[in-house]
Amino acid sequence: LERALAEELPATLQEGGVIRSGWSADLDEAREVRDGAVDFIARLQSRERERTGITSLKVGFNKDFGYYLEVTKSNLGRVPEDYVRKQTLANAERYFTPELKEWEEKVFGAEERIVQLETELLGAVRSEVSSSVTRLQDAGRRLAALDVLATFSRCAERGGYVRPEVHTGFDLDIRAGRHPVVETMMPREEFIPNDITLGEDGWIVVLTGPNMAGKSTVLRQVGLIQLLAQIGSFVPADAARLPLTDRIFTRVGASDNLARGQSTFMVEMSETGAIVHGASRRSLVLLDEIGRGTSTYDGVSIAWAVTEHIHENLGCRTIFATHYHELTQLGDLLPGVKNMNVVVREVGDDIVFLRRLMDGGADRSYGIQVARLAGLPDGVIARARELLAELEGTHSHGGEGLGRRGAHRPRSEAPPDQLSIFQRDHPVVDHLRAVEPDGLTPREALDLLYKLKKEAGDQT
Ligand code: ADP
Repeated sequence: LERALAEELPATLQEGGVIRSGWSADLDEAREVRDGAVDFIARLQSRERERTGITSLKVGFNKDFGYYLEVTKSNLGRVPEDYVRKQTLANAERYFTPELKEWEEKVFGAEERIVQLETELLGAVRSEVSSSVTRLQDAGRRLAALDVLATFSRCAERGGYVRPEVHTGFDLDIRAGRHPVVETMMPREEFIPNDITLGEDGWIVVLTGPNMAGKSTVLRQVGLIQLLAQIGSFVPADAARLPLTDRIFTRVGASDNLARGQSTFMVEMSETGAIVHGASRRSLVLLDEIGRGTSTYDGVSIAWAVTEHIHENLGCRTIFATHYHELTQLGDLLPGVKNMNVVVREVGDDIVFLRRLMDGGADRSYGIQVARLAGLPDGVIARARELLAELEGTHSHGGEGLGRRGAHRPRSEAPPDQLSIFQRDHPVVDHLRAVEPDGLTPREALDLLYKLKKEAGDQT
């Protein structure tokens, strides 16, 4: 193949140049004839200029008319007898001469022969190749495998990867793990490595932190490290103990399905559904936000129920990145859930991203600071601060709902009961609170009891 085929191959046979010179004497000869004739025609220009005295005379070629001699209108008087008109243009005439015709035929003849010879020669090469096709394909497969392995070692060497320990137990333990792609997009020392463990004493991590803090990056790097380990590669970390995993389920970014007419929420829910149905205890589940596409209450409720379900029924290693601070309460309620957050530092009105993963839940979302970093105009930022202050004011006086989100709390305050949106008191309790027992006659008290019982019955 190396001797038969040219270095640079054309896209189609018709273009010629498939067979390397030196492979066939016939082909080489036909090419010499063609090239000689082309050379001759090129030299014709200076000869004809001298003969006719027309200094602007040109030899040209086009696909429809072939080779021609071109003379501008102002020089037509000097055109010799033996020129035959071929084509008329706006300000020039094109001619051929018997001699030009003869050489043109040589070129065309040679070209036809070249195509014909190349087709035959390539056919012969093909049938020879097809007789060894199994051997060639086998070599191709081995080379491909070698290529992959060589690339693994190259990446490992360049990226400072380590050999992971893959075991059949349950615990995942990554020390100083890195995202193999994100780290290459920045100077090496700027990427902050992080430790993470998922195991018997905490298999679900609820990962909180402001937008842009680095939640997705941590989540994805765990998935990539697990994947790299299982395809036989070293991994970007200082050390990694990884359990053999049957599947990696991810719910990250939904933009591509949007084009197919599904809403963000529908995509999130169907992906989450697939995870809930498909995951086993040996799976790794990576959820990057669920419930964004709906109201806060809906979103938190769904996310909460999904986490409970994974905890109770699936028991698989899971990282759940979320901006719902309410979910950090799950860490206190369920033994397998632990909170981690990507921390930021406050500097005056701004925040600095530390990219560091720590135990515990995030207590603020710093939405306005992030919006400012993203370049939202000062006026808009100032107005947002004003509104936020108003909301915080309202809700610190016993308001409910939206304002209860962690986002609206100054950091120094003790965390209010974030779960209050779920634990709003039953109306009967409110009613009871309002009762003054000393002001009731026994009869009224009995009536009230019947009433409350009815209310409670209606409500439950
Ligand atoms: P989030 O999911 O919290 O919104 P991302 O994970 O998308 O945040 O991270 C935002 C950006 O921060 C990334 O595009 C990356 O440039 C940078 N980043 C994330 N993690 C790290 C890290 N560990 N070290 C350095 N830069 C990081």
